[in-house]
Amino acid sequence: MAGSTLHDGLTPLNGPSEQKSDDARGYYTLGDKLVDPVAPEGPIKDRWTTRKFENRLVNPANRRKLDIIIVGTGLAGGAAAATLGEAGYNVKSFCYQDSPRRAHSIAAQGGINAAKNYKEDGDSTFRLFYDTVKGGDYRSRESNVYRLAEVSANIIDQCVAQGVPFAREYGGLLDNRSFGGVQVSRTFYARGQTGQQLLIGAYQAMERQVAAGTVEQFTRHEMLELIVVDGKARGIIARDMVTGAIETHLADVVVLATGGYGNVFFLSTNAMGSNVTAAWRAHRKGAYMANPCYTQIHPTCIPVSGDHQSKLTLMSESLRNDGRIWVPKKKEDCTKDPRDIPEEDRDYYLERIYPSFGNLVPRDIASRQAKNMCDEGRGVGPMVGDFRRGVYLDFTDAIKRLGEDGVREKYDNLFDMYARITGENPYEVPMRIYPAVHYVMGGLWVDYHLQSNIEGLFVSGEANFSDHGANRLGASALMQGLADGYFVLPNTIRDYLADGPFDKIDESHEAVVEARALVEERIAKFMSINGTRSADSYHKELGNIMWEYCGMERTEDGLRKAIDMIRELKADFWSNLKVLGSADTLNQSLEKAGRVADFIELGELMCIDALNRRESCGGHFRGESQTEDGEALRHDEEFSYVAAWEWGGEEGQPVLHKEDLIYTAIEMKQRSYK
Ligand SMILES: Cc1cc2nc3c(=O)[nH]c(=O)nc-3n(C[C@H](O)[C@H](O)[C@H](O)COP(=O)(O)OP(=O)(O)OC[C@H]3O[C@@H](n4cnc5c(N)ncnc54)[C@H](O)[C@@H]3O)c2cc1C
Repeated sequence: MAGSTLHDGLTPLNGPSEQKSDDARGYYTLGDKLVDPVAPEGPIKDRWTTRKFENRLVNPANRRKLDIIIVGTGLAGGAAAATLGEAGYNVKSFCYQDSPRRAHSIAAQGGINAAKNYKEDGDSTFRLFYDTVKGGDYRSRESNVYRLAEVSANIIDQCVAQGVPFAREYGGLLDNRSFGGVQVSRTFYARGQTGQQLLIGAYQAMERQVAAGTVEQFTRHEMLELIVVDGKARGIIARDMVTGAIETHLADVVVLATGGYGNVFFLSTNAMGSNVTAAWRAHRKGAYMANPCYTQIHPTCIPVSGDHQSKLTLMSESLRNDGRIWVPKKKEDCTKDPRDIPEEDRDYYLERIYPSFGNLVPRDIASRQAKNMCDEGRGVGPMVGDFRRGVYLDFTDAIKRLGEDGVREKYDNLFDMYARITGENPYEVPMRIYPAVHYVMGGLWVDYHLQSNIEGLFVSGEANFSDHGANRLGASALMQGLADGYFVLPNTIRDYLADGPFDKIDESHEAVVEARALVEERIAKFMSINGTRSADSYHKELGNIMWEYCGMERTEDGLRKAIDMIRELKADFWSNLKVLGSADTLNQSLEKAGRVADFIELGELMCIDALNRRESCGGHFRGESQTEDGEALRHDEEFSYVAAWEWGGEEGQPVLHKEDLIYTAIEMKQRSYK
């Protein structure tokens, strides 16, 4: 932790920021400051322990009288359903796939972090906390991140007890590898299928509760509206995606664990179905959307090969443990077979620019440098538009060191996947990689208890604005999803439910009838426009706008242009959309229409958020704010806050509430990985 000072965790190290610039003037209204009403105090090490003790209990007999809806069965939702079911509450679990096991979490490849220090390489809870706050470019909440680091070790124990087959060393201890932005080995993994194995663990635990009768499972159901009664979340309206039936489900608490919205960019590494609808419907009902512009662009994805694609594929960051990233020094070498380019003509640019972290710099930095190399004309692979969009990820040295079998043992499924998609053998020719949208740090605003500003609406996993600040370190999304589901929500929801039993409501309640009518009217509208363009074509156009102007580099002019373009696209969508089929049956065209309508509104808010934040931090790189050598330049005195946006109504402007980020344990510094 060179250069950092440890503090007592009690004295504020910075004051509130004061924004002077106002690039987004005219696009938003400034609202009241936002304060986390349940933010803990005291020494940082004791905050979560104290809070768990202070939170009230619900006796087992009363738990049986309380209903919890959990939307989402990925790691965050599956873990919460299993744990809350086991505790004895009545849980209703929803997902839009045909099985909870198909949640996007299953795609996670590389691993999950935990501060176990099995390698005795100097890891600790504090170091994981420090790395995460620094990795997030000092735009996350200190108390939340410390809690995350603290429970990380419990997650591994829980998963091992469930039978998750983590990789082991010869001696029997669980093995670890390194991910970007850290200098210790703390990433636990199961080959390149960590998410799948963890999800099977959570799924089994949840299915046990299904068998026990505490969890009722609703697959192929899409939540389309939140029910809010007297300011409290009390249920959802969902569509049975097979029959088209609109259903009302009521409860005492609603949890959204609905994943991330990276597909707003159309092309991303997310599962095709990942979308923002659940979160966006809650946003329109009053839930704040925080830091929506913070997007993670992952450096190691298979490059785009043309304009016919609808999906991008991630090559796990774990490959950066052994693979070396380079481009030719000379532009004229870019079309040569890489094996014919001699060592002295290769530029291992990450090792050159960041000698301390080398190929393991955080994702935002590795992505930006790959873009810089390609912008300079030193990219490799086929021309896409005016550029070659690719850099090499080369395992020649690793194969010399470990042998082909050694490399195969660590990464075989990733290498096979690459070979199947590109037709090239990565054991013989260096892989080609390029950055792609992968994860969103933004999401619904939550307090320390993971409760949104709507009472009784809790949000977990990638769907909340999360603990990762402006940039997430690799292998920490799985950690956060499981921390939220297994350890945080069960403690904080019980405190909320201790106020129960709540007034009973039924389907005739005015707010319920209104929510249902909203859904029915919207579906009827989609079916009746009868224009000429598919929802998919709008989605692709939106994605192009977002990637061009709100992607790896954002500028004031570009963002203004994007907002205008999105507004035009929205108007066209609502007058020229074509939905095929009918509403009372399985209809993917209708499902897509709803999701794209929400993506369009989200896209506009992302651009406004990006326009307002005239600083560069983590994944948000504003061209106007960079150091002399092109690194992200933060402006803490103006922007050390969480931007929480309130829906301003159909014709109104979004309202910005700022939550100050005050540090007491770690001092904000300009990030350096050199
Ligand atoms: C290719 C890839 C590899 C990754 N690898 C890693 C890794 O190695 N390590 C790491 O830490 N992170 C990794 N990540 C990130 C990580 O996988 C995700 O952030 C995490 O799995 C999200 O989990 P979640 O439970 O929040 O949401 P998800 O797993 O996305 O689950 C969302 C759930 O919500 C449901 N849902 C959504 N909307 C609705 C609705 N309207 N109605 C009903 N149900 C709904 C879905 O059906 C689903 O069950 C990776 C991401 C990608 C894209």
